[in-house]
Amino acid sequence: MKVLVINSGSSSLKYQLFDMEDESVLCSGIVERIKLNGSRLVHKVGAKRYTYETPVNDHKMALKIVLNTLTDAEKGVIKSMDEIDAVGHRVVHGGETFSGSVLIEEKVMKALEDNVELAPLHNPPNIMGIVAAKELLPNVPHVGVFDTAFHQSLPKKAYYYAIPMKYYTKYKIRRYGFHGTSHFYVSRRAAEMLGKPIEDLKIVTCHIGNGASIAAVKYGKSVDTSMGFTPLEGLIMGTRCGDMDPAIVSFLQEKEHLSAKEINDILNKKSGVYGITNEFSSDMRDIEEAAENGNELAKVALEMYDYRIAKYVGAYAAAMNGVDAIVFTAGVGENSPYTRKDVCSYLEFLGLKIDDKRNDVYGKEAFITTDESKVKVLVVPTNEELVIARDTRKIVESMKTTI
Ligand code: ADP
Repeated sequence: MKVLVINSGSSSLKYQLFDMEDESVLCSGIVERIKLNGSRLVHKVGAKRYTYETPVNDHKMALKIVLNTLTDAEKGVIKSMDEIDAVGHRVVHGGETFSGSVLIEEKVMKALEDNVELAPLHNPPNIMGIVAAKELLPNVPHVGVFDTAFHQSLPKKAYYYAIPMKYYTKYKIRRYGFHGTSHFYVSRRAAEMLGKPIEDLKIVTCHIGNGASIAAVKYGKSVDTSMGFTPLEGLIMGTRCGDMDPAIVSFLQEKEHLSAKEINDILNKKSGVYGITNEFSSDMRDIEEAAENGNELAKVALEMYDYRIAKYVGAYAAAMNGVDAIVFTAGVGENSPYTRKDVCSYLEFLGLKIDDKRNDVYGKEAFITTDESKVKVLVVPTNEELVIARDTRKIVESMKTTI
């Protein structure tokens, strides 16, 4: 079975084609700058990389270009589109409707539309990708895999906010959490690496990329997570503020005469390490380099960034009444020995000890604690696409057995 995985964003469309016989990636790529100047396709087959610049007006056109490339005599990996057996779509927000992956039928499309209000930036481009894919590949099943689904197991004490209950009832304001597919994948992989059943483990998973979130995964289920109603809550991120006193919002709005959209933009796009460093950079590589070269704001940004992660790990150890393993993943988590060591330096009281040599690892699975360390720390590169492909296969196979 071949599964095409699509991640459709506002101006980009990422794809991977899996051969599910051995879960290998036949090719992957991205159409960038949809509807913008300089749009292009970057297509990768093994070590080969092709770049093709062409105007791309919308998501349907982007997907057409992808499908043509997949079947191209030179760059392609399949003879015809008929070889694609199913399509798996990443969807950011499933609201309370979806606690697992689903076959995308009419009523699911309607539910996705209903959830747009909860994710006005993310869900519309996801929907555009699904609509385009259903039009261009009408004869295969399409499956939706939600970033929020894994966190639907949170108990009320973790997902309610302490605001009037009528706002939950009226607007569904609650913690949803994001990066669920990644937290799911790395927690399972960590259990495999530890050689223990996931049902026996208390794991804190740290997805630290440009967007960043932490989850408490107790016996395989997410019981708390740092992102909330939107991805703004929790950790300090590239450009997002994370936790702060909510009274700052109305204070700043009044002082600076800001609209709701303007303050929202400031907290999402101008804050985080980018804001702390006076707009120097949102990229943690730049921040680490500048801190090393003595830039005081970069130093404090880095300290704040790591301190916030450590506080969450401590909180989640309490939430689960213990922690067996801590997992680092995503851009920073997979590639920054500095941040991993700095975060773990706050956690030595748990009986955790980093091994510097083992911690010198980039983008590869590894244990980075000493053999004696009571709490194990692991680096696990995330693979959200593989989870989407696996879920898609599972749903397609269950359709066959029920027919
Ligand atoms: P997203 O998917 O949320 O856009 P990624 O998971 O790709 O983000 O992570 C991007 C972040 O990872 C950037 O801030 C980048 O600087 C950081 N990163 C990548 N490599 C390194 C590294 N070697 N050291 C520190 N940070 C790194």
